[in-house]
Amino acid sequence: MSDVPTLSRTAVDRAAERRDDTDWLAKAWETGRLLVLNDGGQVTVDDDGPALVLTESAAWSGDGERFLLGVAPDGTAYWGTKGELPRKLGARPLDLRLVGAALSDLDAGLLVTLVALSNWHETHTHCPRCGAPTQVTQAGWSRTCPADRSQHFPRTDPAVIVLIHDGGDRALLGRQPAWPAGRYSTIAGFVESGESAENAVYREVLEETGVVVDDVIYRASQPWPFPCSLMLGYEARAVGGEVATADDELEDVRWFTRDQLRAGEGMMPPNASIAYWLINGWLDRQPTGD
Ligand SMILES: [Zn+2]
Repeated sequence: MSDVPTLSRTAVDRAAERRDDTDWLAKAWETGRLLVLNDGGQVTVDDDGPALVLTESAAWSGDGERFLLGVAPDGTAYWGTKGELPRKLGARPLDLRLVGAALSDLDAGLLVTLVALSNWHETHTHCPRCGAPTQVTQAGWSRTCPADRSQHFPRTDPAVIVLIHDGGDRALLGRQPAWPAGRYSTIAGFVESGESAENAVYREVLEETGVVVDDVIYRASQPWPFPCSLMLGYEARAVGGEVATADDELEDVRWFTRDQLRAGEGMMPPNASIAYWLINGWLDRQPTGD
């Protein structure tokens, strides 16, 4: 199992100190590489790799906003924009959920950043203070209101996601009615205003499964820009309560042993999800017993 969840991988410097440097940005556009995302959230992916198909940014004629995604160790500046996808023989349009886990560290980081930025810009076009249309600033990393000069930054909503275990060889997974038949996954929910992530773990697990947990341990986080979540991954031990689908979010909650999960009983969540990473990380460890 990889050290970090697949969509947490990256290979560029975000170069935040360059975002206001217009001379540097102009040069970086002239020599940079561009990743294009279409309205369906897809990019062109070469089956050989698979690898993202990028174009020379200087040759781009689209009029979408340009976002500076970062600078690679070799000095290459990577940009992102919305527009019509470049075509290439042997390549096809794919979205982040489908291809994210299979991409290189560089490609995965570029794509997840572009999807997250693009989702935010599309839904935050006006000033929340005065309602005036805002302008893209800082190479895509903020929007500024021309009327009152207020500055607004891309938003990320924290959510907790929890692998619940019994301290031994069983994990508690649930399924949502909309999922493909047989799929089970970890328990997840948004952190509410004024709430700590740990308290969100206790609350969400109790609401969705009826189980009381303790020994909450943080494992890792992963961006999940559908549209703008940051998943905070935890493990927690069930210490009380009774398994029940207390609210309407889950249609079933049940315990699985490692052998049952390895045998395919309970179909796994998509491999780009942190749920997949949490479950596999737990599977890879031997039961410690009580
Ligand atoms: Zn304003």
